[in-house]
Amino acid sequence: MQFLEILEKKRDGGQLSKAEIAFFIEGYTAGRIPDYQASALLMAIYLNELNTEETVWLTESMLYSGLVLDLGDIAGIKVDKHSTGGVGDKTSLIIAPICAALGVTVPMISGRGLGHTGGTLDKLEAIPGFDVNLDLDRYRDTLRRTGLCLIGQTKEIAPADKKLYALRDVTGTVANRSLISASIMSKKLAEGIDGLVLDVKTGRGAFMERLEDAEALARLLISIGNRMNKQVTALITDMNQPLGTHIGNSLEVIESILVLRGEGDPLRNDLVELSYALAAHMIVLGDRAASYDEAQRMVQQSIADGSALEKFREIVRQQGGDDTCLDDLSRLPTATMTRSINAVEGGYVCTLDALAIGRGSVMIGAGRQTLDSVIDPGVGIILTKKIGSRVEPGETLMEIHYNSEEKLAEAMPHFEGAISISNDPVPIPDVILKVLGEGDTNKTVRK
Ligand code: URA
Repeated sequence: MQFLEILEKKRDGGQLSKAEIAFFIEGYTAGRIPDYQASALLMAIYLNELNTEETVWLTESMLYSGLVLDLGDIAGIKVDKHSTGGVGDKTSLIIAPICAALGVTVPMISGRGLGHTGGTLDKLEAIPGFDVNLDLDRYRDTLRRTGLCLIGQTKEIAPADKKLYALRDVTGTVANRSLISASIMSKKLAEGIDGLVLDVKTGRGAFMERLEDAEALARLLISIGNRMNKQVTALITDMNQPLGTHIGNSLEVIESILVLRGEGDPLRNDLVELSYALAAHMIVLGDRAASYDEAQRMVQQSIADGSALEKFREIVRQQGGDDTCLDDLSRLPTATMTRSINAVEGGYVCTLDALAIGRGSVMIGAGRQTLDSVIDPGVGIILTKKIGSRVEPGETLMEIHYNSEEKLAEAMPHFEGAISISNDPVPIPDVILKVLGEGDTNKTVRK
């Protein structure tokens, strides 16, 4: 087989065979197909798409490019959550300890920031000492002892995705339904899970901007999971504005700890609401509650009695992190300078463009612009207003935490352009738009 022929076939809109897809994945993983040719095929796929059959073959090839774990010897139903990527999306840090505190085993293998979106691993690494690179023996051991483990893809888990994920990030080929589905499901199915809750984002800051595309992505993800005998619930959620108030790695850890401490304030409601809902769906799939409503009550109780925060402390300690950060947030990395953006006129926040804010945050160092960029954990943004907030003239809309004047100057137009204010009141948008799959009990919008 010639890789160039496969490439040309997809460039011209043809359907690839299972063998051709396997040839690509095996060849690229083994280093026989160079990045420039793989990039060209990714772009051809991005433009001409894969059908469902090709997507399933791609997922299978990527899944079997590495080990598929069997966690049968570890107690409990194993449930994980995965997000298609957003700005300010730190729900994993909140829901993993909540679910583990409530008896669901959470084997979480996460990714790094992709494009303008943040990644769980980069956030966890903002905690001094936190090691996301445990080998599989330590992963199993930690999971057995604490009921959760938060790691990155080891070299054994879906190595094809690990390589392709990094390449897509820098070749403009992220936002494709099939590539996203194969990427997510290959690593999630390799983890040894029984159930999966998906957070499929839609809106300005999501890879699937339109609701119907997000829904199609969710349905594709659910059908791939079901084919592999996994229970899958998918929530379609809003990503027009960033989730919560903090964006940037250390800042997102801070906001997660505040939520785990139960210190929510009205501005953080979308983060709290979504985190509780995702956790409750995981608890239902994990068979720890008879109904969604019971699971919601359990989630709230785990925050109120401090057990979720204590579980987070346990995992931070287990994975080598400095757990005194949980009590003293100033021990987390910070930026040296801050700059505020203030409202010129009064009114109501009408847009808070998640894509622009995500791009700006990458420019100041919260994400990667190239494969080898180094993340600056202390930089980021704190939103002091969200869509629907009332604003008085001169009031602060957002605070930028940065370390380089040059980078800030480059990013500033993105931040300034992200905000618009209207004279008329603006409704606070719903964060959860739809629930599909196992959790779709009433087949309508759940709020
Ligand atoms: N998350 C993933 O794991 N992969 C993607 O391609 C996009 C989001």
